[in-house]
Amino acid sequence: MKRDIHLVVLLLLLIGCSLASLTLWKVMASRERALEEIDVHGLNLTQALVTYSEGIVRQSSLLLLGLVERLETEGSGPAQIARLKQLVARQQPLMPQLSGITVYDRQGHWLMASNRPTPVGANSSDRAYFVHHRDDPSREPFIGPPIRSRSNQEWVITISRRFNDADGSFAGVVAVTLGIENFLRLFGTLDLGQDGAIGLTNTDGTLLVRYPFREQDMGRNFSNSPIYAKYLVDKTVGTASFTSSLDGVERLYAFRKSDRLPLVTTVALGKNEALAAWRLEAMLSLLVVSGLLAVVGVIGWLLIRDIRRRITVEGDLRVAQQQLLDSNKQLERLAMDDALTGLANRRCFDQTLSMEIRRAQRDATPLALLMLDIDFFKRYNDRYGHPAGDACLREVASALAGCIRRPPDLVARYGGEEMAIILPNTDAEGATVVAKLVLEALNRLDILHAESPFGHVTVSIGLACASGPALEPQQALIDAADRALYAAKEGGRNRLVVACPPLISATTTLSQEANNCRN
Ligand code: GH3
Ligand code: MG
Ligand code: MG
Repeated sequence: MKRDIHLVVLLLLLIGCSLASLTLWKVMASRERALEEIDVHGLNLTQALVTYSEGIVRQSSLLLLGLVERLETEGSGPAQIARLKQLVARQQPLMPQLSGITVYDRQGHWLMASNRPTPVGANSSDRAYFVHHRDDPSREPFIGPPIRSRSNQEWVITISRRFNDADGSFAGVVAVTLGIENFLRLFGTLDLGQDGAIGLTNTDGTLLVRYPFREQDMGRNFSNSPIYAKYLVDKTVGTASFTSSLDGVERLYAFRKSDRLPLVTTVALGKNEALAAWRLEAMLSLLVVSGLLAVVGVIGWLLIRDIRRRITVEGDLRVAQQQLLDSNKQLERLAMDDALTGLANRRCFDQTLSMEIRRAQRDATPLALLMLDIDFFKRYNDRYGHPAGDACLREVASALAGCIRRPPDLVARYGGEEMAIILPNTDAEGATVVAKLVLEALNRLDILHAESPFGHVTVSIGLACASGPALEPQQALIDAADRALYAAKEGGRNRLVVACPPLISATTTLSQEANNCRN
């Protein structure tokens, strides 16, 4: 039963652990899958954004290349500039992202502004792109940091080229300005959630555009951010997860560096937000599994309670059974014992004698029977009273019990003041020894009996003994012992008379064969 409880507990633990670990494994695996999907999604978006940005920059570069070509071949005199302005006015509508084209001379003075009259005395020699081209002879286009346009105060990105004199010296700069509004509008159409962000940066870490737009981020350098400091060092595309230094939100980033241009696009999703669907699914799974575990637990508990109950009931039953057995034994003892003397009673005597006779016949062993009767007991009662007679009976009984040594021997109260001793596997000689012991014991006990000629309580003993077929029937042995006892009484009491063997002859010739064994 205890084993059953252990098995149930083991089974419950097994079910619980496997269910819990399976669920945990499934939840973690689906989290990994969700993160992978987010990465793939982010990388795809960066690819699209890089392509878009590259396209714009490439278009601008081409436009600039044409203008530089013209300026270098035709010069930058007022007539040429006027013609240039007409050309730009025709080209500009083809590129809606373009917010303006400006031409600067070698000192940074404005030679032309596409979308408005050239401001008098305007000078841009302090702008980063101007400084770059003046100091760098490279003819490559330059993507400058975002600046606030001096013409309309909007944030713009500049893409510029240098043009040279005929002798190859620096003659000025042509710059295209791209309003970041266009980028923000496009980025805004992508659903990246509340914590999502898209960034377009220069490879040196300068932020060109960020969606959502934040004034304070414009032109900031992110070369110290993990993407630049750690990831972009040895790869051009990848994903990462870290907490943004801008707003402290943990995000999942996908970044991609353009192959041809010094541009990096970054797509970021708020990690919490991105994993919201997974979290909901995980919560549901955990809820269902917790429910299941609870049900399993309850069933197990009921089962264990049931087993415990059964154990208790079985224990109670065992106790009751034991009590019943004990009571039965006691009843049996009561049924076999004599209440006054504590000796075996007549019933027990009869059963034992019958059993021992059968055993003696089977084993061909001798069996002896002593019948004892207290002498002058009526007188004892009359003299000392019935209660004293009872006490005397008890004393004699315990004296008799003290005279037998072997376990199969039995002392019984045959009736009244008559007692019997069954001595299995004992011949006349052995039984005589026991009888003499009894006579001696009573002599020693010396219970006062003023009405007896012996002065104390004595017994007369009749001994019968037989073996084998002579033991049949049982009553013959009793009768023989009885007759021997009678003979002992006749012979003067306080003595032993032996009647054996053979029994039959003993019964018939008892008067002659009765052997006075007076001690
Ligand atoms: P005898 O020597 O011939 O045996 O004489 P007796 O007086 O012993 O013989 P008898 O059979 O006449 O008397 C037996 C007496 O034993 C009669 C009875 O009152 C008494 N007796 C029998 N059973 C009990 C008992 O349980 N308690 C007491 N106190 N006396 C008993
Ligand atoms: Mg008597
Ligand atoms: Mg008697």
